[in-house]
Amino acid sequence: MNEPNLELGSFLIRRHRSLEFCWSECKTCGVPEIISHVLRDCPFAKNVWDLAPFRDQHHLNTVQVLDFLDRAASLVTLPPSGLHSAFLSAWICWNLRVARNHRIFSNMVFSEQEVITKAIAEAKIWQEAQKAIPPPHINPPTSCNIDAAWHAESLSYGMGIILKFNDEDRVQSFASSRCHVSSELAAEARAMREALLIAIDRGYEEIQVLLDSMSLVNTLNSQDSYRDSRNC
Ligand SMILES: [Zn+2]
Repeated sequence: MNEPNLELGSFLIRRHRSLEFCWSECKTCGVPEIISHVLRDCPFAKNVWDLAPFRDQHHLNTVQVLDFLDRAASLVTLPPSGLHSAFLSAWICWNLRVARNHRIFSNMVFSEQEVITKAIAEAKIWQEAQKAIPPPHINPPTSCNIDAAWHAESLSYGMGIILKFNDEDRVQSFASSRCHVSSELAAEARAMREALLIAIDRGYEEIQVLLDSMSLVNTLNSQDSYRDSRNC
């Protein structure tokens, strides 16, 4: 599935999402200014990411914007930053956008070092602020069943998650699908990740996960990092 060329300028607003279009050129390097350019491909943005205390920069090799954002949120930060990677990548994206707006609308130019310094400072403030918020007291679900089906020809997968709560007679289910997943193991791992994100989002600190993928279980038990040879 091809991703639309998301350019900045006018607005197409969907529920929970804004897609922006414009026909202007980047004031830094002169190429058409699309979202991936502002956040990833512009030499200015690349320099900012290079200055960030991440263990690697594999998100810069993505093709689609959504994959880029997905991978950026899972980057590993290096000590002594003490930052949660999701916080820092989000603040880097935000400050790249702010710097771009200042260049265009205020004729103010910030350096790459200024952008990353501001992003790290704001990420630390945000991270500390989260500690002050008491976590909701919610009993963990008894179990979470996950399953994924992968289609080799289309490189797409579908997955289902069922949360069974132990404190009440209630079941909650989720399902989604996605393209560009290169293996069955990667599909199962994505389903597992989705389940954990849902549980974390709802404030659960413990969850029992039930799945039928022995390859994923063995990979997790081995605690080895897994990298698919086809880079998905
Ligand atoms: Zn540029």
